[in-house]
Amino acid sequence: MRLTTGLVVSLLSICVHAETRHAETHVHGLNHVQIVLDGTTLQVNYEFPIAQLQEHDEYKHDEHKAHGNKNDQSPTLSETEVKDKVTISELIRLPEDAECVEINTVYFVRNAVADGKATEESGHQDVVIEATLKCEQPDKVNSLDFAPAFNKFDDLEKIEVEGMVGNRPLSETLSRKGASTSI
Ligand SMILES: [Zn+2]
Repeated sequence: MRLTTGLVVSLLSICVHAETRHAETHVHGLNHVQIVLDGTTLQVNYEFPIAQLQEHDEYKHDEHKAHGNKNDQSPTLSETEVKDKVTISELIRLPEDAECVEINTVYFVRNAVADGKATEESGHQDVVIEATLKCEQPDKVNSLDFAPAFNKFDDLEKIEVEGMVGNRPLSETLSRKGASTSI
């Protein structure tokens, strides 16, 4: 029961923080991840611009130029289509001996926020994947490797990772050259 309460409190504080920061960042090439490990429960929330899943490079590169031009929106994807294109295990590699198993994952597609307001007209959207895993050996969750995400997304440049692993706060910016957190 104490663990459950702790998890809720941690998640709440991270959500509040993420919400504040989200208002200033919908940047192509930048992904955001929140991690909370509490007891054997590992919560991973991974957020990225939907442009990363869109197949036409032309759209990706022109998307920002197309601001305000309704005739040139990128095609949107449904949550089911997103689910077919990406899973959490394609983005993050966890230590095998931690014995983590995905038990529930929720997908959202939402309008991106820029300059403090939703950008419905420009068609910019973010994908949010919220995965809950159960780790039989949580002590072995000593690194999180995001190399799979960099391999999957050609134009991904940085991942901001933050959260709580047990009692320790986690806050790192990862790149292709340094794709693993050290917890
Ligand atoms: Zn965008």
